Amino acid sequence: MPMLLNEIPTIGALYRSTVLRAPQPQSLRYYQPRINTLNQVSLYKGDITKLEVDAIVNAANSTLLGKPRGIDGAIHRAAGPSLLEECQTLNGCKTGDAKITGGYDLPAKHVIHTVGPVYSTDHATHCENLLESCYKMSLHMAVANGCETIAFPCISTGVYGYPIRDATNVALKTVRETLEKEDGEKLKRVVFVVFNDRDRATYEQLIPLYFPPTEVENVEREKDERST
Ligand code: ADP
Repeated sequence: MPMLLNEIPTIGALYRSTVLRAPQPQSLRYYQPRINTLNQVSLYKGDITKLEVDAIVNAANSTLLGKPRGIDGAIHRAAGPSLLEECQTLNGCKTGDAKITGGYDLPAKHVIHTVGPVYSTDHATHCENLLESCYKMSLHMAVANGCETIAFPCISTGVYGYPIRDATNVALKTVRETLEKEDGEKLKRVVFVVFNDRDRATYEQLIPLYFPPTEVENVEREKDERST
């Protein structure tokens, strides 16, 4: 069964239900509260291939010809063989870049294939720049193709070995900053998809630093807590 976007709570709703909590102390906030972004961003634990959004992002490799395991394998299996046929016409993709295809048998209309860096502690800054570029290029590709809703996996954090906490900081920072620019106005929802409880806990811990709650979320939550 496809998962519809209106069944996935925004982070504004996650603050109101206390799944997310404001960072303590408040001085830990990296960014100012902004009501728009709270309604534009979601966190979802589950299989990205089930999401009915305009575009899902694939953590591909540079050939774009499919990795048998991981998210790439799952996306190709769910999309059917026509996805591989279209990928074969694209001449691969450089690390940090992104290319778009149809979604075929997926509930998503498009797949945006991006190639994350293979992590190396000796080249941590270079890896960070490349990972940032994956998120930026994917968002740009979405907007350029009229996609208003997009779902990201935790790029590079599987076989490519990027430490989840570092990768999550890059993902959240890049999405927050893009949403504040011109492209951000054209995006209705960005979903961060996690596949296990460890990754979910990392996102729940770090989201409040990049997307802190507004007073509205705090007041609503306190009202709910008083009435229960
Ligand atoms: P990479 O090579 O970029 O590290 P992987 O496929 O190994 O790519 O993993 C990237 C991330 O995708 C990991 O966090 C993994 O848990 C997650 N993942 C794997 N399958 C799925 C899926 N079906 N839906 C969402 N996330 C997935």
